[in-house]
Amino acid sequence: MTSDKIPVLDLQPEIDMLWDELNAAFQRVVRSGHFIMGADVTHFEAEAAAYLGVRHAVGLNSGTDALLIGLRALGVGAGDEVITSPFTFFATAEAVTNLGAKPVFVDINPQTFNLDVEQVEAAITERTKVILPVHLYGHAAEMDPLLSLASRYNLKVLEDVAQAFSGEYMGRKLGTIGHVGAFSFFPSKNLGAYGDAGLLVTDDADVASAARMLRVHGAKKKYYNEVAGYSSRLDTLQAAILRVKLPYVDRWSKERRTAAGVYDSLLRDMHGITLPCQMDYARHVYHQYTIRIGEGRRDRVQKRLEEMGISTMIYYPVPLHQLPIYANLGYHLPESEQAAAEVLSLPIWPQITPEIQSRVAAALRIALI
Ligand SMILES: *Cc1c(COP(=O)(O)O)cnc(C)c1O
Repeated sequence: MTSDKIPVLDLQPEIDMLWDELNAAFQRVVRSGHFIMGADVTHFEAEAAAYLGVRHAVGLNSGTDALLIGLRALGVGAGDEVITSPFTFFATAEAVTNLGAKPVFVDINPQTFNLDVEQVEAAITERTKVILPVHLYGHAAEMDPLLSLASRYNLKVLEDVAQAFSGEYMGRKLGTIGHVGAFSFFPSKNLGAYGDAGLLVTDDADVASAARMLRVHGAKKKYYNEVAGYSSRLDTLQAAILRVKLPYVDRWSKERRTAAGVYDSLLRDMHGITLPCQMDYARHVYHQYTIRIGEGRRDRVQKRLEEMGISTMIYYPVPLHQLPIYANLGYHLPESEQAAAEVLSLPIWPQITPEIQSRVAAALRIALI
Protein backbone atom coordinates (compact mmCIF):
# COMPACT_ATOMS: atom_id res chain seq x y z
CA MET A 1 0.00 0.00 0.00
CA THR A 2 1.41 3.40 -0.92
CA SER A 3 1.18 6.22 1.56
CA ASP A 4 -0.44 8.76 -0.80
CA LYS A 5 -3.48 10.32 0.73
CA ILE A 6 -6.75 9.62 -1.04
CA PRO A 7 -9.04 12.66 -1.28
CA VAL A 8 -12.80 12.38 -1.22
CA LEU A 9 -12.94 14.05 -4.65
CA ASP A 10 -10.19 14.71 -7.21
CA LEU A 11 -10.95 17.26 -9.94
CA GLN A 12 -7.44 17.25 -11.41
CA PRO A 13 -7.90 14.37 -13.92
CA GLU A 14 -10.83 16.18 -15.45
CA ILE A 15 -8.97 19.48 -15.59
CA ASP A 16 -5.97 17.78 -17.23
CA MET A 17 -8.20 16.14 -19.81
CA LEU A 18 -10.05 19.36 -20.66
CA TRP A 19 -7.14 21.77 -20.31
CA ASP A 20 -6.96 22.91 -23.94
CA GLU A 21 -10.72 23.24 -24.31
CA LEU A 22 -10.94 25.16 -21.04
CA ASN A 23 -8.20 27.52 -22.13
CA ALA A 24 -9.89 28.15 -25.46
CA ALA A 25 -13.17 28.93 -23.70
CA PHE A 26 -11.46 31.17 -21.15
CA GLN A 27 -9.60 33.10 -23.85
CA ARG A 28 -12.71 33.48 -25.96
CA VAL A 29 -14.63 35.07 -23.09
CA VAL A 30 -11.80 37.27 -21.87
CA ARG A 31 -10.93 38.47 -25.38
CA SER A 32 -14.59 39.26 -26.06
CA GLY A 33 -14.62 41.65 -23.12
CA HIS A 34 -18.18 40.48 -22.50
CA PHE A 35 -18.32 39.24 -18.93
CA ILE A 36 -21.99 39.53 -18.00
CA MET A 37 -24.62 37.37 -19.73
CA GLY A 38 -24.05 37.29 -23.48
CA ALA A 39 -23.69 34.43 -25.93
CA ASP A 40 -22.07 31.84 -23.65
CA VAL A 41 -24.90 32.11 -21.13
CA THR A 42 -27.58 31.91 -23.82
CA HIS A 43 -25.86 28.99 -25.52
CA PHE A 44 -25.33 27.09 -22.30
CA GLU A 45 -29.00 27.54 -21.40
CA ALA A 46 -30.04 26.19 -24.80
CA GLU A 47 -27.58 23.28 -24.64
CA ALA A 48 -28.61 22.32 -21.11
CA ALA A 49 -32.30 22.54 -22.04
CA ALA A 50 -31.70 20.32 -25.08
CA TYR A 51 -29.70 17.80 -23.04
CA LEU A 52 -32.37 17.59 -20.36
CA GLY A 53 -35.31 17.76 -22.75
CA VAL A 54 -36.98 20.76 -21.16
CA ARG A 55 -38.40 23.95 -22.70
CA HIS A 56 -36.74 26.61 -20.59
CA ALA A 57 -33.43 26.83 -18.76
CA VAL A 58 -32.47 29.95 -16.81
CA GLY A 59 -28.84 30.36 -15.72
CA LEU A 60 -28.43 31.63 -12.18
CA ASN A 61 -25.70 32.43 -9.71
CA SER A 62 -26.05 29.27 -7.61
CA GLY A 63 -28.18 26.28 -6.79
CA THR A 64 -29.37 28.08 -3.70
CA ASP A 65 -30.69 30.91 -5.87
CA ALA A 66 -32.30 28.40 -8.23
CA LEU A 67 -34.26 27.08 -5.24
CA LEU A 68 -35.11 30.57 -3.98
CA ILE A 69 -36.09 32.00 -7.37
CA GLY A 70 -37.88 28.79 -8.35
CA LEU A 71 -40.01 28.82 -5.21
CA ARG A 72 -40.76 32.49 -5.61
CA ALA A 73 -41.65 32.06 -9.29
CA LEU A 74 -44.11 29.35 -8.18
CA GLY A 75 -45.74 31.91 -5.92
CA VAL A 76 -44.35 30.84 -2.54
CA GLY A 77 -44.40 33.66 -0.03
CA ALA A 78 -44.97 34.57 3.60
CA GLY A 79 -47.10 32.09 5.52
CA ASP A 80 -46.97 29.35 2.88
CA GLU A 81 -45.75 25.85 3.63
CA VAL A 82 -43.30 23.78 1.62
CA ILE A 83 -42.96 20.06 2.30
CA THR A 84 -39.39 18.84 2.11
CA SER A 85 -36.77 16.46 3.44
CA PRO A 86 -34.75 17.23 6.56
CA PHE A 87 -31.91 15.08 5.27
CA THR A 88 -30.31 17.47 2.80
CA PHE A 89 -28.02 20.46 2.59
CA PHE A 90 -29.32 23.47 4.53
CA ALA A 91 -29.93 25.50 1.34
CA THR A 92 -33.03 23.43 0.54
CA ALA A 93 -34.91 24.68 3.60
CA GLU A 94 -33.07 27.99 3.76
CA ALA A 95 -34.67 29.06 0.46
CA VAL A 96 -38.10 28.39 1.95
CA THR A 97 -37.30 30.31 5.13
CA ASN A 98 -35.86 33.25 3.21
CA LEU A 99 -39.21 33.71 1.45
CA GLY A 100 -40.99 33.93 4.79
CA ALA A 101 -42.50 30.49 4.21
CA LYS A 102 -42.27 27.49 6.50
CA PRO A 103 -40.47 24.25 5.75
CA VAL A 104 -42.54 21.23 6.74
CA PHE A 105 -40.25 18.27 7.24
CA VAL A 106 -41.24 14.72 6.36
CA ASP A 107 -39.00 11.82 7.30
CA ILE A 108 -36.98 9.84 4.76
CA ASN A 109 -37.06 6.36 3.36
CA PRO A 110 -33.95 4.83 4.99
CA GLN A 111 -32.99 2.95 1.84
CA THR A 112 -32.93 5.88 -0.58
CA PHE A 113 -32.38 8.72 1.92
CA ASN A 114 -35.14 10.58 0.06
CA LEU A 115 -38.63 11.71 1.13
CA ASP A 116 -40.79 8.86 2.41
CA VAL A 117 -43.71 9.33 0.03
CA GLU A 118 -46.02 7.38 2.37
CA GLN A 119 -45.77 10.20 4.91
CA VAL A 120 -46.21 13.20 2.66
CA GLU A 121 -50.01 13.31 2.43
CA ALA A 122 -50.43 13.63 6.19
CA ALA A 123 -48.23 16.74 6.11
CA ILE A 124 -50.38 18.62 3.57
CA THR A 125 -52.41 21.52 4.99
CA GLU A 126 -54.42 24.46 3.62
CA ARG A 127 -51.18 26.42 3.44
CA THR A 128 -49.10 23.90 1.53
CA LYS A 129 -47.95 25.33 -1.81
CA VAL A 130 -45.05 23.15 -2.95
CA ILE A 131 -43.54 19.70 -2.43
CA LEU A 132 -39.76 19.95 -2.63
CA PRO A 133 -38.09 16.55 -3.03
CA VAL A 134 -34.29 16.28 -3.03
CA HIS A 135 -32.59 13.67 -5.21
CA LEU A 136 -29.95 13.06 -2.60
CA TYR A 137 -26.56 11.61 -3.55
CA GLY A 138 -27.76 11.31 -7.19
CA HIS A 139 -30.58 8.83 -6.49
CA ALA A 140 -34.07 9.81 -7.66
CA ALA A 141 -36.78 10.61 -5.17
CA GLU A 142 -39.99 8.70 -5.88
CA MET A 143 -41.63 11.20 -8.19
CA ASP A 144 -44.90 9.61 -9.38
CA PRO A 145 -46.57 9.40 -5.95
CA LEU A 146 -45.49 13.00 -5.28
CA LEU A 147 -46.87 14.21 -8.61
CA SER A 148 -50.21 12.53 -8.02
CA LEU A 149 -50.48 14.08 -4.56
CA ALA A 150 -49.58 17.42 -6.10
CA SER A 151 -52.31 17.19 -8.69
CA ARG A 152 -54.86 15.96 -6.15
CA TYR A 153 -54.16 18.87 -3.78
CA ASN A 154 -53.31 21.46 -6.42
CA LEU A 155 -49.68 21.82 -5.37
CA LYS A 156 -46.49 22.38 -7.35
CA VAL A 157 -43.41 20.16 -7.26
CA LEU A 158 -39.95 21.69 -7.25
CA GLU A 159 -37.06 19.22 -7.56
CA ASP A 160 -33.76 19.94 -5.80
CA VAL A 161 -31.48 18.38 -8.42
CA ALA A 162 -28.26 19.87 -7.04
CA GLN A 163 -26.71 16.41 -6.63
CA ALA A 164 -28.28 14.63 -9.58
CA PHE A 165 -27.52 16.21 -12.95
CA SER A 166 -28.16 13.51 -15.59
CA GLY A 167 -29.83 11.17 -13.08
CA GLU A 168 -33.15 9.62 -14.08
CA TYR A 169 -36.50 8.47 -12.73
CA MET A 170 -38.31 5.90 -14.90
CA GLY A 171 -36.25 6.97 -17.90
CA ARG A 172 -36.96 10.67 -17.40
CA LYS A 173 -34.25 13.17 -16.57
CA LEU A 174 -34.39 14.45 -13.01
CA GLY A 175 -35.28 18.11 -12.76
CA THR A 176 -37.73 17.89 -15.68
CA ILE A 177 -40.41 15.80 -13.97
CA GLY A 178 -41.87 18.30 -11.51
CA HIS A 179 -42.86 21.87 -12.36
CA VAL A 180 -39.40 23.28 -11.71
CA GLY A 181 -35.92 21.80 -11.33
CA ALA A 182 -33.17 23.59 -9.41
CA PHE A 183 -29.60 22.60 -10.32
CA SER A 184 -26.32 23.57 -8.67
CA PHE A 185 -23.02 23.65 -10.52
CA PHE A 186 -20.95 24.10 -7.35
CA PRO A 187 -17.51 22.71 -8.31
CA SER A 188 -17.95 19.38 -6.53
CA LYS A 189 -21.30 18.54 -8.13
CA ASN A 190 -21.59 15.98 -10.96
CA LEU A 191 -21.61 18.83 -13.44
CA GLY A 192 -19.48 21.43 -11.70
CA ALA A 193 -18.34 24.91 -12.68
CA TYR A 194 -15.11 26.45 -11.41
CA GLY A 195 -16.98 28.75 -9.08
CA ASP A 196 -20.61 29.26 -8.12
CA ALA A 197 -23.31 28.61 -10.71
CA GLY A 198 -26.85 27.28 -10.91
CA LEU A 199 -29.75 26.64 -13.26
CA LEU A 200 -33.53 26.65 -13.09
CA VAL A 201 -35.40 24.50 -15.61
CA THR A 202 -39.11 24.35 -16.36
CA ASP A 203 -41.62 23.74 -19.13
CA ASP A 204 -43.73 26.62 -17.82
CA ALA A 205 -43.13 29.82 -19.80
CA ASP A 206 -44.50 32.02 -17.00
CA VAL A 207 -42.16 30.52 -14.40
CA ALA A 208 -39.24 30.92 -16.80
CA SER A 209 -39.99 34.57 -17.51
CA ALA A 210 -40.49 35.31 -13.80
CA ALA A 211 -37.09 33.72 -13.10
CA ARG A 212 -35.44 35.70 -15.90
CA MET A 213 -36.83 38.89 -14.41
CA LEU A 214 -35.95 38.03 -10.81
CA ARG A 215 -32.31 37.24 -11.64
CA VAL A 216 -31.73 40.80 -12.91
CA HIS A 217 -33.24 42.87 -10.09
CA GLY A 218 -36.83 42.30 -11.08
CA ALA A 219 -36.60 44.05 -14.44
CA LYS A 220 -37.82 42.77 -17.81
CA LYS A 221 -36.31 45.87 -19.38
CA LYS A 222 -33.17 47.35 -17.84
CA TYR A 223 -33.87 50.23 -15.42
CA TYR A 224 -37.61 49.55 -15.55
CA ASN A 225 -37.63 47.41 -12.41
CA GLU A 226 -41.00 45.92 -11.55
CA VAL A 227 -40.32 44.00 -8.32
CA ALA A 228 -37.46 43.64 -5.86
CA GLY A 229 -35.48 40.74 -7.27
CA TYR A 230 -31.89 39.56 -6.98
CA SER A 231 -28.51 39.92 -8.56
CA SER A 232 -28.23 36.31 -9.64
CA ARG A 233 -26.97 35.97 -13.17
CA LEU A 234 -25.00 32.93 -14.28
CA ASP A 235 -21.43 34.19 -14.64
CA THR A 236 -20.30 34.24 -18.29
CA LEU A 237 -16.97 32.52 -17.64
CA GLN A 238 -18.72 29.79 -15.68
CA ALA A 239 -21.20 29.35 -18.53
CA ALA A 240 -18.30 28.94 -20.97
CA ILE A 241 -16.70 26.33 -18.68
CA LEU A 242 -20.00 24.50 -18.30
CA ARG A 243 -20.36 24.40 -22.09
CA VAL A 244 -16.99 22.63 -22.28
CA LYS A 245 -18.04 20.10 -19.64
CA LEU A 246 -21.66 19.34 -20.58
CA PRO A 247 -20.77 17.02 -23.52
CA TYR A 248 -18.79 14.79 -21.11
CA VAL A 249 -21.43 14.45 -18.46
CA ASP A 250 -22.94 11.18 -19.75
CA ARG A 251 -19.52 9.59 -19.87
CA TRP A 252 -18.76 10.78 -16.34
CA SER A 253 -22.06 9.48 -15.01
CA LYS A 254 -21.31 6.12 -16.59
CA GLU A 255 -17.86 6.12 -14.99
CA ARG A 256 -19.36 6.97 -11.60
CA ARG A 257 -21.79 4.07 -11.98
CA THR A 258 -18.92 1.76 -12.88
CA ALA A 259 -16.96 2.94 -9.85
CA ALA A 260 -20.01 2.33 -7.66
CA GLY A 261 -20.17 -1.22 -9.04
CA VAL A 262 -16.52 -1.72 -8.11
CA TYR A 263 -17.23 -0.59 -4.54
CA ASP A 264 -20.31 -2.83 -4.43
CA SER A 265 -18.24 -5.90 -5.20
CA LEU A 266 -15.33 -4.92 -2.96
CA LEU A 267 -17.58 -4.21 0.02
CA ARG A 268 -20.40 -6.70 -0.46
CA ASP A 269 -19.26 -9.19 2.16
CA MET A 270 -18.04 -6.66 4.70
CA HIS A 271 -19.80 -6.92 8.06
CA GLY A 272 -21.22 -3.93 9.88
CA ILE A 273 -21.93 -1.75 6.85
CA THR A 274 -24.90 -1.20 4.56
CA LEU A 275 -24.25 -0.43 0.91
CA PRO A 276 -26.20 2.15 -1.11
CA CYS A 277 -29.22 0.85 -2.96
CA GLN A 278 -30.59 1.66 -6.38
CA MET A 279 -34.33 1.30 -6.75
CA ASP A 280 -35.77 -0.04 -10.02
CA TYR A 281 -37.21 3.36 -10.85
CA ALA A 282 -33.87 5.16 -10.53
CA ARG A 283 -30.77 5.60 -12.59
CA HIS A 284 -28.37 6.54 -9.82
CA VAL A 285 -25.52 8.88 -10.79
CA TYR A 286 -23.57 8.45 -7.55
CA HIS A 287 -22.81 12.03 -6.69
CA GLN A 288 -21.90 10.25 -3.48
CA TYR A 289 -21.28 6.61 -2.72
CA THR A 290 -22.68 6.57 0.79
CA ILE A 291 -22.57 3.61 3.13
CA ARG A 292 -24.05 3.24 6.60
CA ILE A 293 -22.10 2.16 9.66
CA GLY A 294 -24.37 1.44 12.59
CA GLU A 295 -24.09 0.82 16.30
CA GLY A 296 -22.46 4.16 17.02
CA ARG A 297 -19.25 3.18 15.26
CA ARG A 298 -19.30 5.58 12.30
CA ASP A 299 -17.24 8.43 13.75
CA ARG A 300 -14.52 6.09 14.99
CA VAL A 301 -14.32 4.36 11.62
CA GLN A 302 -14.04 7.71 9.88
CA LYS A 303 -11.23 8.75 12.22
CA ARG A 304 -9.32 5.53 11.62
CA LEU A 305 -9.72 5.94 7.85
CA GLU A 306 -8.37 9.48 8.11
CA GLU A 307 -5.34 8.13 10.02
CA MET A 308 -4.78 5.72 7.12
CA GLY A 309 -4.90 8.60 4.63
CA ILE A 310 -8.43 8.04 3.35
CA SER A 311 -10.69 11.09 3.34
CA THR A 312 -14.41 10.57 3.73
CA MET A 313 -17.32 12.94 4.32
CA ILE A 314 -20.49 12.97 6.38
CA TYR A 315 -23.43 14.36 4.41
CA TYR A 316 -25.07 15.42 6.70
CA PRO A 317 -24.20 15.19 10.40
CA VAL A 318 -27.26 17.13 11.60
CA PRO A 319 -30.71 16.71 10.04
CA LEU A 320 -32.21 20.13 9.39
CA HIS A 321 -34.99 19.78 11.96
CA GLN A 322 -32.34 19.53 14.67
CA LEU A 323 -30.49 22.70 13.67
CA PRO A 324 -31.07 25.56 16.13
CA ILE A 325 -33.06 27.53 13.52
CA TYR A 326 -35.67 24.75 13.20
CA ALA A 327 -35.35 22.92 16.54
CA ASN A 328 -38.25 24.93 18.00
CA LEU A 329 -40.59 23.33 15.45
CA GLY A 330 -40.38 20.24 17.64
CA TYR A 331 -39.89 17.53 15.03
CA HIS A 332 -38.73 14.03 15.82
CA LEU A 333 -37.87 12.22 12.58
CA PRO A 334 -36.17 8.97 13.54
CA GLU A 335 -35.01 7.78 10.12
CA SER A 336 -33.31 11.08 9.33
CA GLU A 337 -31.71 11.16 12.76
CA GLN A 338 -30.42 7.63 12.41
CA ALA A 339 -29.12 8.31 8.89
CA ALA A 340 -27.26 11.39 10.13
CA ALA A 341 -25.56 9.20 12.75
CA GLU A 342 -24.62 6.41 10.33
CA VAL A 343 -23.81 7.76 6.84
CA LEU A 344 -20.31 7.91 5.46
CA SER A 345 -19.51 8.99 1.89
CA LEU A 346 -16.48 7.29 0.37
CA PRO A 347 -14.11 8.83 -2.21
CA ILE A 348 -15.67 8.86 -5.67
CA TRP A 349 -15.11 10.74 -8.91
CA PRO A 350 -15.41 9.63 -12.53
CA GLN A 351 -11.72 8.81 -13.02
CA ILE A 352 -11.17 7.05 -9.69
CA THR A 353 -9.29 3.81 -10.37
CA PRO A 354 -10.02 0.28 -9.11
CA GLU A 355 -6.60 0.43 -7.39
CA ILE A 356 -7.59 3.47 -5.35
CA GLN A 357 -10.93 1.85 -4.56
CA SER A 358 -9.15 -1.32 -3.41
CA ARG A 359 -7.06 0.76 -1.03
CA VAL A 360 -10.21 2.39 0.32
CA ALA A 361 -11.83 -1.01 0.78
CA ALA A 362 -8.76 -2.51 2.46
CA ALA A 363 -8.52 0.42 4.87
CA LEU A 364 -12.23 0.20 5.61
CA ARG A 365 -11.89 -3.50 6.42
CA ILE A 366 -9.20 -2.65 8.98
CA ALA A 367 -11.08 0.37 10.36
CA LEU A 368 -14.15 -1.77 10.99
CA ILE A 369 -12.28 -4.25 13.21
C1 LIG B 1 -25.12 22.00 -3.29
C2 LIG B 1 -26.53 21.92 -2.89
C3 LIG B 1 -27.37 23.03 -2.89
C4 LIG B 1 -26.89 24.43 -3.05
O1 LIG B 1 -26.20 24.70 -4.23
P1 LIG B 1 -25.18 25.93 -4.30
O2 LIG B 1 -24.88 26.01 -5.75
O3 LIG B 1 -24.01 25.59 -3.47
O4 LIG B 1 -25.89 27.13 -3.82
C5 LIG B 1 -28.72 22.85 -2.60
N1 LIG B 1 -29.21 21.65 -2.33
C6 LIG B 1 -28.44 20.54 -2.30
C7 LIG B 1 -29.06 19.22 -2.00
C8 LIG B 1 -27.07 20.64 -2.56
O5 LIG B 1 -26.31 19.54 -2.51
